[in-house]
Amino acid sequence: LPIVAVVPAAGVGSRMRSAFPKQYLTIAGKTILEHSIAALLCHAEVARVIVSISPDDGYFNDLPLANDPRIQVVFGGAQRADSVFAGLKAATDAAWVLVHDAARPCLHQEDLSQLLALRHTSKVGGILAAPVRDTMKRAEAAGCAIAHTVDREALWHALTPQFFPRELLMMCLERALNEGANVTDEASALEYCGYHPLLVSGRSDNIKVTRPEDFALAEFYLSQRT
Ligand code: C5P
Repeated sequence: LPIVAVVPAAGVGSRMRSAFPKQYLTIAGKTILEHSIAALLCHAEVARVIVSISPDDGYFNDLPLANDPRIQVVFGGAQRADSVFAGLKAATDAAWVLVHDAARPCLHQEDLSQLLALRHTSKVGGILAAPVRDTMKRAEAAGCAIAHTVDREALWHALTPQFFPRELLMMCLERALNEGANVTDEASALEYCGYHPLLVSGRSDNIKVTRPEDFALAEFYLSQRT
């Protein structure tokens, strides 16, 4: 059965203070979204990409890749999890699915290979993640004072792609969404249902372009490739 990737790209990117969604900013002649999709389609084991865009999106259809037969478009929803779910529904032929942020253009092929190998050893799946390097503080409820230091040995940054059996992910997302759980990535939906997805240690340059300063960093990382 093929592996299909879902790319939620229906966000508005308000944190970038840009005139249009951050995934449509251009780095080295290609939009961030195109870099993110290309990193997935480059891999021999990834058959197709389903991109979840906003119904109001006025940019996607102008991209050269809009005509690529390996790319399918669906409409996303109000929250990221809704957009992912819409993509998963369309991936009817896939046993395992990748979910990758539109705003992570710097994914490396070796990291993707390591993640995809999980399907041979796990029934639950897992995510790319990077160990936390800074000392971590929990704030007091009121705001700015430190309550205590959190042991960073056990802390990881959750990255994407995230990789799960399609039916399991859909079941967990549906339940988490119905019950109003706080689902900020796919793994959190599985955790909500009692599963423990695996952590696959990935490169820390697989950043999410969220703030204006991330843009220059992504530009630098991508320029190092060619
Ligand atoms: O807002 P955040 O950076 O967490 O968004 C992560 C990813 O989820 C982005 O690629 C964004 O386009 C996508 N997203 C979506 N649908 C939403 C909100 C976010 O596809 N309703």
